[in-house]
Parts: sequence; C-alpha cells; structure tokens
Amino acid sequence: MHAYTSHLNLKTIPTLPVPSAGHPCFSTFPSPRRRGRRWQPFTLSGHSRHGPGPAPSPAFPRGQREPGGRCEAARLSPPPAPGAVPALARRGRAWIWRESIKSRRETRPPSCQSRRHRTMINPNYYPWGYDSDNGPDQWHKNYPFAKGRHQSPIEINNKEVHYDSSLLPWFASYDPGSAKTILNNGKTCRVVFDDSFDRSVLRGGPLPQVYRLRQLHFHWGSSDDHGSEHVVNGVRYAGELHLLHWNPKYSNYLDARRRTDGIAALAIFLQVGETPKPEMKRILEEINAIKTKGKMVPFPNFDPSILFPKSHDYWTYHGSFTTPPCEECVTWIILREPIIVSSDQMAKLRSLSKNAENEPDHPLVDNWRPTQPRYFRMVSASFL
Ligand SMILES: [Zn+2]
Repeated sequence: MHAYTSHLNLKTIPTLPVPSAGHPCFSTFPSPRRRGRRWQPFTLSGHSRHGPGPAPSPAFPRGQREPGGRCEAARLSPPPAPGAVPALARRGRAWIWRESIKSRRETRPPSCQSRRHRTMINPNYYPWGYDSDNGPDQWHKNYPFAKGRHQSPIEINNKEVHYDSSLLPWFASYDPGSAKTILNNGKTCRVVFDDSFDRSVLRGGPLPQVYRLRQLHFHWGSSDDHGSEHVVNGVRYAGELHLLHWNPKYSNYLDARRRTDGIAALAIFLQVGETPKPEMKRILEEINAIKTKGKMVPFPNFDPSILFPKSHDYWTYHGSFTTPPCEECVTWIILREPIIVSSDQMAKLRSLSKNAENEPDHPLVDNWRPTQPRYFRMVSASFL
C-alpha cells in the first residue's frame, strides 16, 4: 500500500488536524488487494468510513502509527521524482487482475485447477471407445493428454533402438492369492489384483524400485493379422497383454497415474502359432461368464507369470496409457519374445461383447490404439 502513499510528504501528517470518529479523512487510491471494488477508501488516520477504527494509543495518537506499521514503512521509502506515477498504478488494473489470477492458479493444487483438468484425470467423464465417432482419433478432444509428446503405443524399429548395457534384468514375484476378479468393462477383458500392499510386485529392469501389480488386460483385433498396440519392425501381432503396476511411493493408484514415474507396464505380444500356450486356458475358460459389459466373476488363485515367455529380453521407453485419459506416466517394458496362442484362443477373446446384457450384440474387437509419434524419445534395448 505504501507504493501509493510514498509520494506524499508524510512528515506533515502529525501536523494534520486529528479527525473525529464521524469525520474520517479519505484518500482514494485503486487497491490491488480487493477485487470488485473500484476505489478503496483509505484513511491516513487509521479508520474507515465503516467505523471509527481502533482506540487511539496514548503513545501514538491518531495520525501517527507504531514503528513498522503501514505509515512507518511509507515514511521510510524514498520519495519518487516529482511527477512520477507509482509503479503499481502505472501498471494499471488489467495487469493487477492478471497477476492476481496467476498467483491464485499457482497456489492451487493441480488436481483442482479447472474443470478441464478434472476431465483429463477421469477416464469416465466423457464416453470413449474404438469406433469412428468416439475412437482414438477423437480422444484428444476430451482428453488433451492424447495429443502429448510422450504417447503410446509406438512403432519399435531396430534401426532406432539403442542397446543399453546398463539395463538390468527384471523380476516379477506374484502372489497367486492376490488375484481377485475377472471382468468385462466393454473395452477389454481385465483381471484385477489386490494391491493394498507389496504382495505381487515387479522390480529391476529400468525401474528404480518395486511396483505393485494392479491389473492385467488384453488388446486384440478382429482377425489374427492385427490386434497388438505396439508394432515391431512393421509387424503387428494378433494381440497384446498388458500388466499394469504402480509405484507405491505414491499414496494410491490414481495418484501414481499423475506422476512421471507412477506406472510400470509389462507388455507381452500374442502371436498365433502352432503350439499355443496352455496357460491361457485359465483366463479363456472364464470368458463365457463375462460375455457382456459389466459382468464380473471371482478369479482366485492365479499367477500371471505363467504367461511369460522364456526370454526376458525387453525394450523400454517412457510413454503413456493407451486409453483415455492417456496420462504420460508409464515406463514401458516390452518383451521381445511373443507368447504363442492359437487361432481358437483369439476367437474366444473376440466372442466377448462390448454391449451390456440387454442391448443389441456388438462384438468386442479391435480395442487397440494406433501407434503415436515417437518425437525425440529414445527406445532402449536390454539385448544386442
Ligand atoms: Zn493396455
């Protein structure tokens, strides 16, 4: 406030007549503190037109202030040159308004910055899917992360991958008792695990610490020649299995999704071949029980590491969820060796429906997102 008063010769204040309670002396200056009020009544005597103000102190009668008070600070600041306009007044009210908005934004926690931001972190705020009207090309309209520079999936090209000899092997220690349910959410088939403590974890590889298993799910196509999300040297596999883990240094899964190092995703390709993996049987035999959207059944005693291929060689890069809101919080670990599935097993996945039980039947197929630009990201390989 003293910026407005500093051009006054305050040494004359003690000689001013002491105003009575009903007759305050006013000085009008624009106030940066109060919005919606064009002129702030300011009295040199310490009381406003709304009341008489504090009782006068015998040591400092009206018209004077205690040392360090507002008037004292003004008294100590150097007087400006004759005719100079105080700095804040020169900036104008528009500048003050902008600055106050900016400071309010900076002091708010990011989770409640705006309605727009809330939609970005809530995947159910706007409906989305894989059709032409709500598919991957449309997601960015409601979920702006989808146009980010660290999006997934990407195409992995041997020429652009660099071997990183410092990459460690990764390890998974999964407790079969942590498996809880299997469900159809209309977009994929998902197995959910208990992640209330470090029960089933992934560690090593590019990860700085253990990550807790949260869920696994699949992506697949409408035929055997496509369906995976990541593409390797131009090859799109029939499907892709994702095991999602979160960093327990954050308070919960949703909090971890907002952090750069919040999620670790293990991706395993499904390739149609002659010697299918029998371990897929356990999941596929539950498909009939979760045929339509919203169905969920218990799925106890399941260790997903039985689905791993023999080789643990991997590519790794930093990317995003491949479904809205597409948060860029994922350390991807993509296994080089696919697991083999049969054409019948893939057909079983395609027998799921994306509609609810009482709605017309729509097969749940092609729930994969096309590859996204890699921009300047590096893809590292744990193998030569
Ligand atoms: Zn996925």
